[in-house]
Amino acid sequence: MTQVSETDAIVAGAGVWGCTVARTLADAGLRVLVLERRSAPGGNCRCRRDPESGAEVHVYGSHIFHTSDPKTWAFVNRFTAFNGYQHKVLARHAGRTYFMPLGLALVNAFFGKELAPAEVPAFIAAETASAGLPGTPRNFEEQAVSFVGRRIYEAFIKNYTAKQWGRDPKELDASIIRRLPVRASYDVNYFSDVLQGIPRWGYNALFDEMLSHPNIDLRTGVDFLKERPKLPAGKHVFYSGPVDELLGWRFGPLPWRTLRFELENAPVADWQGTSVVNYVDADVPYTRIHEFKHFHPEDAETMARPCTTICREYPATWKPGDEPYYPVNDAASAALLGEYRAAAAREFPDVTVGGRLGGYRYLDMDKSMTDAIATAEAFLKKLRNA
Ligand code: UDP
Repeated sequence: MTQVSETDAIVAGAGVWGCTVARTLADAGLRVLVLERRSAPGGNCRCRRDPESGAEVHVYGSHIFHTSDPKTWAFVNRFTAFNGYQHKVLARHAGRTYFMPLGLALVNAFFGKELAPAEVPAFIAAETASAGLPGTPRNFEEQAVSFVGRRIYEAFIKNYTAKQWGRDPKELDASIIRRLPVRASYDVNYFSDVLQGIPRWGYNALFDEMLSHPNIDLRTGVDFLKERPKLPAGKHVFYSGPVDELLGWRFGPLPWRTLRFELENAPVADWQGTSVVNYVDADVPYTRIHEFKHFHPEDAETMARPCTTICREYPATWKPGDEPYYPVNDAASAALLGEYRAAAAREFPDVTVGGRLGGYRYLDMDKSMTDAIATAEAFLKKLRNA
């Protein structure tokens, strides 16, 4: 095991970004000290097995790995096999259940039509024409209505979004809705990425395997910011904690949304017939219900057990000290982030800040991994050229 005094680089935070940086540096021969504040690595992908239902419970909300980047897929497949799970999301609206991607299955079921794919663009154009939209969408609502028209927006997007973000969608950034695919086909896969799945032996095993390298020394229960004075000087640090915390919150906290999860074991083998159902209406206080066993359909024993773990997800107002989940990206937070980034670059030239928390970004796992590989490779290149 690497001794602290022999460390070549320090990674603060063992989530997706930190573990990927650590492993890429270690593979290149560097000795890496990884410090994690929680008791185990994996960040918000961390899971726990429920003893009664046998399900792999995603304790920070459902995580499905999906990517279109072959390099990232090859990287993650070095540490785990994937089970071939393809994510589908259903949406409950006004007492009926629809396939959520904004596509032909939803449009035809919602409007009671039998449109063919070629008829969808004209149908949506007619739906949006009456909406009186400006040429370029200026916010989330205008962007969403321009994609699907006002009636689908009002039914499936407006209320869910208001619950999720605690704001009127007119005040939100248009980029958020661009995450959702809009299709003129019956493809009900939630993601457009074909490279997709759940780690066959669970997320915890994936992160344990990533960090299992003779050049990596993982210390859990260690807060980098508190330990910093005792750490060896002059070592480059890859920091994936909140950037405002790195600077002592001196300009005020960057705003987040948080989530509250309500877990329940139901005495049935199958509670909702699928892994995630969104509740898109305003009168239901939660946004979705997760049923974790469906992420592992290959696990016949768990599937058959007459017990299943479900989880209701409630978005909530965040205050300092709460778990940060979604960055609230708007003009005010962008200005604040700019101040923090400038201060970090000025005062911590030996610290690379990244990841979801460090970058203050709404970041999927694969994007975080891709970014971490590129960050570590750029650092190695600089070292070789020095
Ligand atoms: N969204 C919606 N209705 C849905 C699902 C998503 O309006 O049934 C909107 C909502 O604004 C959300 C965004 O689409 O924030 C992105 O959804 P995604 O499922 O990617 O969110 P995540 O799984 O990251 O929470």
